[in-house]
Amino acid sequence: MSIVKVGINGYGTIGKRVAAAVSKQDDMQVVGVTKTRPTFEAKTAAEKGFDVYVPEESLQAFRDAGIRTAGTIQDLFRASDIVVDCTPGNVGEGYKAEYAAAGIKAIFQGGEDHSLTGVSFNSTANYRDSWGAQFSRVVSCNTTGLIRTLFPIDRKIKIKNAYVTVVRRAADPGDSKSGPINALEPSVKLPTHHGPDVQSIMPWLNINTMAIKASTTLMHLHTVVVELERDADTAEVLDILRSAPRVRLIKSKSGIKSTAEIMEYARDLGRDRSDMYEIVVWEDGVKVVGNKLYYYQAVHQEADVIPENVDCIRSMCKLEKDAAASAEKTDRALGIDKG
Ligand code: NAD
Repeated sequence: MSIVKVGINGYGTIGKRVAAAVSKQDDMQVVGVTKTRPTFEAKTAAEKGFDVYVPEESLQAFRDAGIRTAGTIQDLFRASDIVVDCTPGNVGEGYKAEYAAAGIKAIFQGGEDHSLTGVSFNSTANYRDSWGAQFSRVVSCNTTGLIRTLFPIDRKIKIKNAYVTVVRRAADPGDSKSGPINALEPSVKLPTHHGPDVQSIMPWLNINTMAIKASTTLMHLHTVVVELERDADTAEVLDILRSAPRVRLIKSKSGIKSTAEIMEYARDLGRDRSDMYEIVVWEDGVKVVGNKLYYYQAVHQEADVIPENVDCIRSMCKLEKDAAASAEKTDRALGIDKG
């Protein structure tokens, strides 16, 4: 089996995690990461042993900062079979022509539009749609979170309508530029883009979304109301969620009352960067009344898309035909065990 050579373009919140996750797989390897400026993250990437590729015009600045470089960003493209583009939203699209010219595959992230690739990826819902594709897009953290729970519920009990409010973290923990730091900010462009983004993978789903930015950095929280096609009961839905891939049920009675305790739990689990890859659902907050299902779920925005990127590489590079087998391999390497 040949080992797939993976380049990571953009070594920020998502890129550094994808690099670490790819490094843990036995069928792919990181051939390098890119950094545009000689920051502490660039220095740490080099210290971790990643080859750092930089824009031609930044080579001198990296030399001056004492950070060893392996070449230019274009050199990395030439050395890669596939690039995972983790540059900021709407920056990735500018690179698509370069990936095409280099004759390599590329995965974009949720900050790019579905139209850039024409195919979007979720491991459970549509692994095979990216099979052998040159370009694909791993949907955003919120979209991944919604699909992780809605897809299995829809498969077992059809969904007539889903109504979701996304309470968004205002910034990632490592970001001191964004806000608000003491306010709630509703998204007034309604319905929000989250519903159509879920439909990029589940086009048949009726879903309606609103969003509020909240002054927290830890996680997003979704309130979900689902109108089911038929009456159900709470135990049936809990069984579905319990067996759903990368969904973790927790109980507020066990002391996990908020996103703060979820992050503490992730630290206790000893994961890389304290990442909670699973979508966390409060078991005692799941309730079915007739055909109405209510639940809350929390999304660790820095982490949930990471195993999806690994599976997407396997699908695009035809490394594993079976979605569940790929997910199982990825999860084992990342220490994901639903507990
Ligand atoms: P980030 O700002 O943390 O990291 C982006 C990295 O790209 C930085 O290292 C930056 O220096 C680098 N970069 C900027 N311009 C570049 C260029 N022209 N060429 C090469 N590198 C460049 O961003 P992020 O949060 O990691 O987001 C990356 C993508 O992942 C976006 O599409 C975003 O929407 C998506 N995403 C983010 C999150 C999240 O919560 N942070 C979750 C899921 C998906």
